[in-house]
Amino acid sequence: MTAIAFDNSYARLPERFFSRRLPTPVTRPGRIRVNHTLAAQLGMDPQWLESPEGTAMLAGNALAAGSDPIATVYAGHQFGSYNPQLGDGRAILLGEVIGTDGVRYDIQLKGSGPTPYSRGGDGRAPLGAVLREYIVSEAMFALGLPTTRALAAVSTGEQVARESFLPGAVLARVAKSHIRIGTFQFFAARQDHEALTLLVEHVLARHYPDALAEDNQALALLQKVISAQASLVARWQSLGFIHGVMNTDNMLLSGETIDYGPCAFMDGFDPEKVFSSIDHGGRYAYRNQPGIAHWNLAALAQALLPVLHPDQEQAVALAQTAVDRFPDQFQQAYAAGMARKLGLVEPGETDTALVEEFLSLLAGHKSDFTLAFRRLADHASDGAAPGVGDLFEFPDAFLPWLARWRQRLATQPGTPARRQAAMYAANPVFIPRNHLVEEALRAAVDQNDYAPFNTLVDLLAQPFTYRADLARFAMPPRPEEEVRQTFCGT
Ligand code: AMP
Ligand code: MG
Repeated sequence: MTAIAFDNSYARLPERFFSRRLPTPVTRPGRIRVNHTLAAQLGMDPQWLESPEGTAMLAGNALAAGSDPIATVYAGHQFGSYNPQLGDGRAILLGEVIGTDGVRYDIQLKGSGPTPYSRGGDGRAPLGAVLREYIVSEAMFALGLPTTRALAAVSTGEQVARESFLPGAVLARVAKSHIRIGTFQFFAARQDHEALTLLVEHVLARHYPDALAEDNQALALLQKVISAQASLVARWQSLGFIHGVMNTDNMLLSGETIDYGPCAFMDGFDPEKVFSSIDHGGRYAYRNQPGIAHWNLAALAQALLPVLHPDQEQAVALAQTAVDRFPDQFQQAYAAGMARKLGLVEPGETDTALVEEFLSLLAGHKSDFTLAFRRLADHASDGAAPGVGDLFEFPDAFLPWLARWRQRLATQPGTPARRQAAMYAANPVFIPRNHLVEEALRAAVDQNDYAPFNTLVDLLAQPFTYRADLARFAMPPRPEEEVRQTFCGT
């Protein structure tokens, strides 16, 4: 057994934060994929992780020295209704390691068997859901977004019972921490102010150490999380990413994207778009995401009230002021992100309208969101880079807008070639399109063929570099390939 330098700070918190629980061994652990670069960043030997011993650990069949496995407890608002007791029902935190970047990371197994928080669930994960999370979370990382990551996926040799029997798998997930808004809600609901105070300190120390010196730590934390989420959700919007299940237990204090269940990237632009099979009211539709984030942050503020100020009225005033800043912070981050996508390094007053008009043209023509922005970058200069003109060209209705955009672009500093390079770096060409993800999952689940999965993961690691030989992966689905719904995969 190779050494992994675990240092488990969450497991050192009081017992009421978690339950000690070992993963439940699986019948036949089989390696699917190990993320070599991430393993190295975590100070782990990728070769060892690929060995039978490493695979056994990743399946939950063997425990690495220093690991102190726990299931953490939390609550949360799911689709707007409060559930006082959730928790890691099918995930076990093996422990934490300090990466070569000096940052502390959680190593968690997802699909590792039941825990005291399983609420009747089997604690397992179907292979398809594990591969989806692997593909999309790693794509998000390559796109430059804060996100949980996939260290490895292993098969279990067991079946899980869902609508039908499906092969099971375990994902080794890595996050700066798995502490959620729902973690705070759990203790607030119990009026456990001591736990709230401990949790505030813990999260500040891990994610926002510069705020530890603030007089009001709880307020500093709230402000930090509001900023982090404003910039995160702005990034989602700028990529056409729909999270799909923005419950308060699925929002991390670290500001990383978590829970790749029913998520998807849009193909044709439609602000009302929803993919999740269980989101009947469209609560988590694309255009609602900033508003829902705001709502969730208000829930965090509410949970923090007892530690924001001893006087309740003053606590409410502090919380309200902090939460009220979210819309502006989001707008700023979003405007800056969209300006970058349009090649505008020095954004001005009229740019908001320019963006809005472009988006309404896209919506009117149901144009492919990703390719339209990428094609704009082609138009920014007569550069030599291979463009996506074979895959997408603007309809004539865009010509007046394109003319105005070119005029605006000409006022920007730098050469056309530099502007174009910046736009290529802001507008990906390869995203985890739903039909490609589905194709990779089908091959693995139905034919035990992991080649499409591996191809997709490799390709999505370079999302900003177009290669004409990979054009198939940049294209939107043909009508018969279109995936309209994604399933929660629980
Ligand atoms: P999610 O929808 O994935 O955010 O999960 C919501 C809650 O249900 C979390 O507390 C999960 O741990 C729990 N859960 C989801 N799937 C399972 C399962 N198969 N077995 C036990 N608990 C589960
Ligand atoms: Mg969740």
